[in-house]
Amino acid sequence: MEVKSVCPYCGVGCGIKLIVENNKVVKVLGREDHPVSKGKLCIKGLTLDKVIHHPERLKYPLIKKGDELVKASWSEAISLISEKFKEIKETYGSDAIGIFASKRCTNEDNYLIQKFARVVIGTNNVDNAARLCHIPTVRGLYQVLGRSAMTNSYEDFSESKCILIFGDNVANTQPIAFPWILKAKERGGKLIVVDVRETETAKRADIFVQINPNTDILFIIGICKVILREGLENKEFIKNRTLGFKEFKESLEKFKMDYIEKITGINEKLIEKVAMEYAKAESASIIYGMGITQQSNSLESVLAIADLALLTGNFGRPGTGVNPLRGCNNVQGCCDMGCLPEFYPGYHPLTEETIHKFKNIWNVDNLPITLGLTQVEMVESIPEKILGMYIIGEDPLVSFPDVNRIERDLKNLEFLVVQDIFLTETAKIAHVVLPAACFAEKTGTFTNSERRVQLIKKAVEAPGKAMEDWKIIKAIAEKMGYGKYFNYNSSEEIFEEIRKAVPTYSGITYEKLERLNGIQWPCDDKHVEGKKILYDKDFGPARNRAVFYPLTFTPKEINPSYPFILTTFRLLEHYDVGSMTRKIDILNKIQPESFVLVTNEDADELKIKEGDYVKVSSPLGEIIVKARIGNLKKGVIAVPNHFAEARVNKLIWRRLDPVSKIPSFKYCYARIEKV
Ligand code: SF4
Repeated sequence: MEVKSVCPYCGVGCGIKLIVENNKVVKVLGREDHPVSKGKLCIKGLTLDKVIHHPERLKYPLIKKGDELVKASWSEAISLISEKFKEIKETYGSDAIGIFASKRCTNEDNYLIQKFARVVIGTNNVDNAARLCHIPTVRGLYQVLGRSAMTNSYEDFSESKCILIFGDNVANTQPIAFPWILKAKERGGKLIVVDVRETETAKRADIFVQINPNTDILFIIGICKVILREGLENKEFIKNRTLGFKEFKESLEKFKMDYIEKITGINEKLIEKVAMEYAKAESASIIYGMGITQQSNSLESVLAIADLALLTGNFGRPGTGVNPLRGCNNVQGCCDMGCLPEFYPGYHPLTEETIHKFKNIWNVDNLPITLGLTQVEMVESIPEKILGMYIIGEDPLVSFPDVNRIERDLKNLEFLVVQDIFLTETAKIAHVVLPAACFAEKTGTFTNSERRVQLIKKAVEAPGKAMEDWKIIKAIAEKMGYGKYFNYNSSEEIFEEIRKAVPTYSGITYEKLERLNGIQWPCDDKHVEGKKILYDKDFGPARNRAVFYPLTFTPKEINPSYPFILTTFRLLEHYDVGSMTRKIDILNKIQPESFVLVTNEDADELKIKEGDYVKVSSPLGEIIVKARIGNLKKGVIAVPNHFAEARVNKLIWRRLDPVSKIPSFKYCYARIEKV
């Protein structure tokens, strides 16, 4: 039997075929009919069968007795959760409970968990991993353009005459999407890569701009100044389709080119060259990743990127746009479903109008309107404000900054429930662990980076007593006395409710998804088969003009005791915190352990050779890893983020972007020494 599905790892969402024999996935192949992946898969996708049937999959609920997690029945686990959540809610109030939704779960699972938070618990304390990767995209693109998503499509990259990539090693992070970028190059388009590391992507670029860390805004300011000086701005577009140009232009004036050159480390001539290539191209696209969004000024960096595209009128046509590449397969869907403390489903803000709308859809009398806590804020509020947590498909003990403190905080919780497919580091310290079905064991939808909603179908039974996430959430809601609001018999019934709650999904049905091989939202009365390119006519759902954002920049201070800048990155062979890919032999063989990249020049000065073990430390802690020589800016070191036994996040501080509240994984003070 062959079952159509979608790879659950990165934001490309490649189409896969699960070859099933006797309730076992024996092989995973690419789907030739898939519009993005065209039959290809990277090594992570090709080894998915090993994850589905891994012997360490969780098979039964576990309850902590003394220091041990002991096998329990579903009825015992659900009763205990219901009792403890009720007790915390009655004693300390609804906002004493915090919930993490999962970028690896389906839209239906995620829609239900935010509904559980708002209807059953009565709180907006629900958030997802976008807070650690692309929340500046969610907030920034919503603010300037009106929608929180990639404007164009993967396939559409190949139409571009100039692609400008900021802070993403696409060749490794989204390997199956990279050929679309290379195709643009084959057709005569220019590829420009801006990064602190000379990555595999940078090596394929026509122009590589090796920039000082955390100075992208200033580099963009430099490009905008050159465009304006040369009169290359798109005057008609600015006049007819934008607001705020005057204030934006004035904001650039205080930055002189020699200052920009000094702080970014980029020669003025190179800034001019990039500005000319981008502004003169018939169609130019900006692609960016976590090199932009995981900084303490990341929201402003996203706004600067959007400004640059507005200045040149690069919207609404093939080969243009602003295209954030989402790291995880359903982080876009998780945000669309409202797993955010500042938005109800469909990015409905916290207003009386929204509350009224959702009271009607959910048929309830009360819903929370006050701003909830973000993921990091929830953990920081333990035990004063937060006493109970429900974490689905996330492992904050590895993924969060300053993990030593996170561990102390989570251990202070009165009650912690973790729902996952493996016993993660966080699950080990939980009071109750619930075994979930993985993607191959459920039906539902995922939404990839390019807004493509895709249907996945159940191929095999879950191991032991593991259950679909939405069924577990429903069971807890029923036990807590809210069963009538969770009266669903299938994921499709949940999706039918999503259509009412999320306007951009209103025209999507399971039947259409199957027939059309996925649909790029918005899909509604106006766009019955979805929309490949946003903003061809209007910006945003409620206005027709985009709004320029005046730019500012403050340089970072240097810490003489920790003279290196530590940044983190992803490897092709591993995904996220490694809870799935680190269980696969072949992937471990290729990338068995963590390491630190250091430049030749710095390595020579410190008498470090390739393969030496070194201590990397920050004001927060230290890790011991092997040294590898890489081409980075002098004074910058880089460590991958997948390895639990050498958690780089022990070193990363909890410095947050002031508005989007994302931690600064890409800029932290550090030291490196031979051991
Ligand atoms: Fe495709 Fe990403 Fe999965 Fe690789 S990890 S197969 S690129 S979706």
